[in-house]
Amino acid sequence: PAGGPVWGWQPGFAALGPAFFTALQPTPVPAPYWVAVSQDAANTLALPPDWLQSDEALQALSGNQLLPGSQPMATVYSGHQFGVWAGQLGDGRAILLGETFGNTEIQLKGAGRTPYSRGGDGRAVLRSSIREFLCSEAMHALGIPTTRALAVTGSPLAVQRETRETAAVVTRLAPSFIRFGHFEHFAARDMQPELRALTDYVIDRYYPACRKAANPAAALLQAVSERTAELLALWQSVGFCHGVMNTDNMSILGLTIDYGPFQFLDTFDPGHICNHSDVQGRYAFNRQPQVAYWNLFCLAQALMPLIETEEPAVAALSTYKAVFAQAFLTRMRAKLGLAQAQDDVQRSDSDGTLIEQLLALLAANRVDYTVFWLRLTEAVESGDFTPVRDLFLDREGWDGWLVGYSARLVQSDGASAAALMRRTNPRFVLRNHLGELAIRAASEGDFSVLHQLQQVLQRPYDTHPEHAQWSGFAPEWASSIAISCSS
Ligand code: AMP
Ligand code: MG
Ligand code: MG
Repeated sequence: PAGGPVWGWQPGFAALGPAFFTALQPTPVPAPYWVAVSQDAANTLALPPDWLQSDEALQALSGNQLLPGSQPMATVYSGHQFGVWAGQLGDGRAILLGETFGNTEIQLKGAGRTPYSRGGDGRAVLRSSIREFLCSEAMHALGIPTTRALAVTGSPLAVQRETRETAAVVTRLAPSFIRFGHFEHFAARDMQPELRALTDYVIDRYYPACRKAANPAAALLQAVSERTAELLALWQSVGFCHGVMNTDNMSILGLTIDYGPFQFLDTFDPGHICNHSDVQGRYAFNRQPQVAYWNLFCLAQALMPLIETEEPAVAALSTYKAVFAQAFLTRMRAKLGLAQAQDDVQRSDSDGTLIEQLLALLAANRVDYTVFWLRLTEAVESGDFTPVRDLFLDREGWDGWLVGYSARLVQSDGASAAALMRRTNPRFVLRNHLGELAIRAASEGDFSVLHQLQQVLQRPYDTHPEHAQWSGFAPEWASSIAISCSS
């Protein structure tokens, strides 16, 4: 239609051929309505400025009307869930519309059943769609690699979970939605030509430098290990708990993907389990770096027919631990406002020791993680550390740590330390109770809280005085919010 976007679909994933997906249409929903849009995400696409306000957009992003030229599909993957081989999974409710502007794939999550839905209904509920939308955009604003969310639309269509809820569709964007599980799928079935085609596709499209390596598949494994390590360092430093780190939820591009029972820590509890379905605590906050490594082993296993010998695979995987340790240290050092490294691990005042001791104190005193970093930033600015000290029951422990930290701080200029801390320590993260406030209002038809929260989280380092309470401690009721896999 005149004035509509020229989508410019590219062959993309579809060029891999029918072994990789099933072509199908989204299933329409009744009476769709807008819940939220991200203009910031829209700006990454060459969309006409008012397209997201159009009825064509509402119908298309609800799965009711095909975008011109789109050939939608659901892709097939397998994976390990909770450490156990789960066999074939696949896009059970996500439908890939195709690849368009600037090499971006557009996917509708919750757009109906697919051949990979197994027992599921192919739908997503409004509650979890709001959480995914807000968190995708919040993570992006924090500088953490993630799939993006362009929009959420809702529908009165009833969806049965623990209770009756209503349906929603999230429009997700990413350069690629390929997961470790896509590789595991073809490896487990011994489909070597497909495994090779997928590997070549990922290398040529996303990791072209690996093509020049002596062993391109090993080079890919190493590159993915590095990106995954960088991602996990960011998660751990900001206090993000993913909740379902199954291998089918691991992006081959090192993006945060599949927002389910995720949670930003309130109090710093290293063993925190955000997913109520995770009874063993496999995906507890402090186990995430190790789990990512385990998941990379699964990817390595899948790539073995191409890597061929053990040695390069082991070498590629071994980069994970080194990159994670270094990236985590770098990030934590910035949170502390320390521009200079003190890396000598022999010294008792090394940055590693300083950080380890701090995290132990935060855990023992059950200190709120985000509030701590904010107050520390303010203390470095003002020179008054009392508000930080007040967060600790063990005052002596805190005073002792502060002696070492102060000695490190005097080596750097106070103003630049504070400036570094201001841009590294977010004032606002998507705490569970904030998402819950947005969800409760939205389920009454009031999207204003959601939109305000979206705006605040889009600039998480700014002050937002009108929403100062959102940067404070979680209220009492926050601890009773139970988030399960049900979404
Ligand atoms: P997840 O735990 O979100 O990673 O989902 C694991 C698998 O279950 C994936 O293959 C999903 O596509 C599928 N799945 C989750 N929820 C549904 C649903 N409501 N309908 C169909 N498939 C689903
Ligand atoms: Mg998933
Ligand atoms: Mg999910």
